[in-house]
Amino acid sequence: MKKSVKAAIAALLLLAATAVIAGCAAKDTETSSEKDDNNESSKAAVSEPEPLPQREYKDPSEYGKVIALTFDDGPSTTTSLVLDKLEEHGAVATFFLIGDNITDDKTDTVRRAVTLGCEIENHSKTHSDMTKLSEEEIKAEIDFTSEKITEITGREPRFFRPPYISTNDKMYTAIEPTFICGYGCNDYDSKVEVETRVEKTLAQAKDGAIILLHDSEGNIKTVQALDRLLTELEAQGYEFVTVGELFHAKGVEPQDYTMYSEVSAQQ
Ligand SMILES: [Zn+2]
Repeated sequence: MKKSVKAAIAALLLLAATAVIAGCAAKDTETSSEKDDNNESSKAAVSEPEPLPQREYKDPSEYGKVIALTFDDGPSTTTSLVLDKLEEHGAVATFFLIGDNITDDKTDTVRRAVTLGCEIENHSKTHSDMTKLSEEEIKAEIDFTSEKITEITGREPRFFRPPYISTNDKMYTAIEPTFICGYGCNDYDSKVEVETRVEKTLAQAKDGAIILLHDSEGNIKTVQALDRLLTELEAQGYEFVTVGELFHAKGVEPQDYTMYSEVSAQQ
């Protein structure tokens, strides 16, 4: 009896081993057929990157005066310059990406942002005024960008910044991530000088504030503003946090049907 049980187990193990070998063989065949097309195989490698370590938050009691810098409309070649400045200052920020801008050549930039402790959130797919879209179109805009970001970073966006800060009830119903606005300095306008960008942002800085900037293609004046901005805010005792971390630091649960420009513990 015992012998027959052993024999049965041995047979099962053999079957399992055969299945594993067969599985490997099938995979190898797939891989070698993909090698026929070099572009296809490199695309496959890009879509399955190593999972990235995500930002770790401290205990809420350990945060002092906090501020969340955010950048809209990337990723672009300017994003790398913004990341250089953040890295120099040991600062973090949150990037709200336009889905259509997340091309294969920008994947490394997005991954670098996460590696530096930044977080990546949703700014629609096409940057349309979404109040003019149907509920289905609104959902498609959000899903496209969230899926793309999740694929690259391994983390699903939790926050959404509406293009042109244009919102309606239909959007609040259709969109799951929390709506974020923030304090801006019109830095999407190339006529706004570096000095004005710095002064206006500093004037609006306060504990719990979300600062709205742009890393759109060629927005060098904001990159130039960052040196003084980061130095001044550091000197004023601010700690840079991501938007998700700001809610965590203030002990606030993000609410539906609300758009946040700041987060304070009293909310
Ligand atoms: Zn935008």
